[in-house]
Amino acid sequence: MTPNPDLIPYQKPQPWGMSADMVVPSIDTDDERLWAELSPGVFSRPIHLNTSAGYYVHLLKVTRSGLLQRHRHSGAVHAYVLKGKWRYLEHDWVATEGAYIYEPPGETHTLVVPPECNEMVTLFTVHGALMFVDPQGEATGYDDVFTRLEKYRAHFEKVGLGADYVKQFMR
Ligand code: FE
Repeated sequence: MTPNPDLIPYQKPQPWGMSADMVVPSIDTDDERLWAELSPGVFSRPIHLNTSAGYYVHLLKVTRSGLLQRHRHSGAVHAYVLKGKWRYLEHDWVATEGAYIYEPPGETHTLVVPPECNEMVTLFTVHGALMFVDPQGEATGYDDVFTRLEKYRAHFEKVGLGADYVKQFMR
């Protein structure tokens, strides 16, 4: 019997120089050690930190209502809301559970979690840098995959997993 050709796996080697694939079995974990606190009530869990393409994928969890620092993006952002809701001061829409959001390069915004929401969790893919700015757009600081790496390394060291725990999320 001849096998169904559609079921034959690719027979050649993968290209030289290709990165390894990555599987994170459960992204919305409650293992507290995986969540780095960025500021009071604001946590980030690294999913994929890509230093050669300059982007990072992380889960943002906010367990209080309030503001996240105003910033401008140099690259595109994709977001998927897993829990709760949030909005930007600069837009009239609200991102609710199940929503997908695209943020174009160049956009400046300020994230707000409304008072009635006590926990929001969102998966963000962030390309390039975010620059913290004042209301007139003057830069006051920045964040990118490399500043994130430093934060996660310090966090994993502190909780006993070791700074190099972060390496499994890197490509
Ligand atoms: Fe943003």
